[in-house]
Amino acid sequence: MDEKHYGKTAIVTGASRGIGRAVSVELARCGYRVAVNYASDERGASETLDLIKREGTGGKIIRFDVANFEDTQKGVDEIISDFVSVDVLVNNAGITADGLFVMMPRKDWDSVINTSLNGFYNVTKPVLEKMIRQKRGAIVSIASVAALIGNRGQANYSAAKAGLIGASRALASEVARLGVRVNVVAPGLIDTGMTKNAPVENIKRLIPMARLGKPEEIAKVVRFLCSEDASYITGQVISVNGGMF
Ligand code: NDP
Repeated sequence: MDEKHYGKTAIVTGASRGIGRAVSVELARCGYRVAVNYASDERGASETLDLIKREGTGGKIIRFDVANFEDTQKGVDEIISDFVSVDVLVNNAGITADGLFVMMPRKDWDSVINTSLNGFYNVTKPVLEKMIRQKRGAIVSIASVAALIGNRGQANYSAAKAGLIGASRALASEVARLGVRVNVVAPGLIDTGMTKNAPVENIKRLIPMARLGKPEEIAKVVRFLCSEDASYITGQVISVNGGMF
């Protein structure tokens, strides 16, 4: 699709690699300027921005920890003052800290909830205020198949991602009449740094397509949900998982 969004802008959290990078490049291909957020990997974020520029647009890299409310507020304020408008927000930043629940230290519970679920609040709140004033915007958050089936060893992650779905559905109904759409993409197993230590051969047996997904296969769905082609879609969860269930 060669749809162009000249002058449109997007914020992608956790865009220094993996799915966030692929989403940033896909949006750039549609003409968006992209604010590439990262927490620690400045070099990775710069590489993402280089890839965006190759698509003929631009943007900026911006460091903030989505788990930190004040840090995030400052970062979002800076983006808004540079970009003037914000058309798209992709809540992508996420981490895992796997372990059986009975042995899970409190810090592993907190860090995962703080990044995926509290991160959703911290980033979405200031961006939404702007989108409501603009009377337009699309928000897409990256959940996981774990939110829908509950993965063994991922109680923290499954809870955070399920919370993201509940929050997104509620928010979608609150802002549907204000020109803002809110949707969720729930990936299955995707070939990124997050899954590099996963037992891939065992996992493939659980996937009808018998392969991991590519970050670009998530990015294309995100791009669709952000586009005018999805103008009547809000409050939905789209699974992209090779047919896992
Ligand atoms: P990666 O580990 O490859 O990348 C994670 C990204 O998130 C990095 O850019 C990292 O930046 C950033 N990040 C982590 N914590 C923070 C934070 N506190 N503030 C800002 N940025 C942060 O992961 P993926 O690309 O695989 O995952 C992207 C999203 O997709 C996550 O939400 C993940 O849960 C979800 N997902 C992934 C699946 C998979 O199989 N890979 C499956 C289902 C969902 P930095 O390095 O600078 O910290």
